[in-house]
Amino acid sequence: MSVREHDLREIREAVIKLCATFPMDYWRATDRERRYPTEFVRALTEAGWLACLIPEEYGGAGLPLAAAAAILEEIQRSGANGAACHAQMYTMGTVLRHCSEAQKRKYLPKIAKGELRLQAFAITEPSAGTDTSSIRTAAIRKGERYLVNGQKVWTSRAEHSDLMLLLARTTPREAVQKKTEGLSVFIVEMKAALGRGLTIRPIRTMINHATTEIFIDNLEVPAENLVGEEGNGFRYILDGMNAERILIGAECIGDARWFIAKATAYASERRVFGRAIGQNQGVQFPIARAHMATEAAALMVERAAALYDASKPCGPESNMAKQLAAEASWQAGDMCLQTHGGFGFAEEYDVERKFRETRLYQIAPISTNLVLCYIAEHVLHLPRSY
Ligand SMILES: Cc1cc2nc3c(=O)[nH]c(=O)nc-3n(C[C@H](O)[C@H](O)[C@H](O)COP(=O)(O)OP(=O)(O)OC[C@H]3O[C@@H](n4cnc5c(N)ncnc54)[C@H](O)[C@@H]3O)c2cc1C
Repeated sequence: MSVREHDLREIREAVIKLCATFPMDYWRATDRERRYPTEFVRALTEAGWLACLIPEEYGGAGLPLAAAAAILEEIQRSGANGAACHAQMYTMGTVLRHCSEAQKRKYLPKIAKGELRLQAFAITEPSAGTDTSSIRTAAIRKGERYLVNGQKVWTSRAEHSDLMLLLARTTPREAVQKKTEGLSVFIVEMKAALGRGLTIRPIRTMINHATTEIFIDNLEVPAENLVGEEGNGFRYILDGMNAERILIGAECIGDARWFIAKATAYASERRVFGRAIGQNQGVQFPIARAHMATEAAALMVERAAALYDASKPCGPESNMAKQLAAEASWQAGDMCLQTHGGFGFAEEYDVERKFRETRLYQIAPISTNLVLCYIAEHVLHLPRSY
């Protein structure tokens, strides 16, 4: 479904209004206490925004990815931390394209109503790192069930999710021709699994991200919870990953615009040597540069989302969108901190919090080097380096 300019504008305005009911005090407190912003996620769910990608026949709004990108961008642009909820949108990349009709009927209406949360995407493992095909978590079929054993790390929001998309190896790496073969995706019902093979341990980090490590010990997953065909999981998660990169790119654009607005306002009002600091070119040029980098990156995010929505190949564009937007938000964050001088370090200005939060996107969901490796190999046809 295409979304018209004025629809997007209406969506943006409604999200801005909702976010305004969560003042910066709320985000400072949740950050300080490393508390999950349950109230904010509930408000987004009740307003239907987290179900925006779910087709209308399953109770969602049936909007395209471009609309989800606009929602997440506005959340970040308001100063909030949308990392608490974004996975419910990007997991749809895998679910809508590859889950069976029965799986969709079972889960999507409940997700749309807010009765179930699908906020956990368990891919990364401690020993595999970025090399996803070398994950060790294994799922072995035993009749109508799979027996899963392994460990995941950085599984964000696992404690605040009812469902988890889990990537596991179903055929040993030595037994497949291509290392990306033999991987499968499962839907895990987490509440039933907790204490019956699934253990979640939170990891405290420099940002409030509700991330965890999970231990899987003889966890039984019904065979009907296998997504698509066994062994094709890598291809399925790529659809989720492209959606994720585009949406994270949109969040970075929102962060960058927040930093630029904040720096511009401060540079206009802060007076040193008897004039506004923003009158000095040494202060205004970095703001102008950050603005240009952000607007250029925003065009790539828009282009990648349009390709994704048209079901066209969008690997290069999704990666470029995420990288350019993450670099723009980091540039804007650094500029904003510098513009604020010492006050940039004070919690009450929110700059240091957003600075920490936006730094993540140089590393996750894929690190900058690996995006460069991908572009070098797949777009420029240089030799594979990883
Ligand atoms: C807060 C947080 C939340 C996260 N949430 C999730 C989540 O919900 N689900 C999930 O599955 N994962 C999640 N992740 C994991 C994230 O996707 C990984 O951290 C990321 O993909 C990088 O993997 P790694 O940390 O193992 O780094 P490594 O793979 O160990 O890489 C370390 C460094 O080496 C560089 N490097 C590695 N190989 C090469 C190469 N060949 N050439 C050049 N440079 C190279 C990398 O660029 C990186 O800078 C999260 C991570 C964090 C920190």
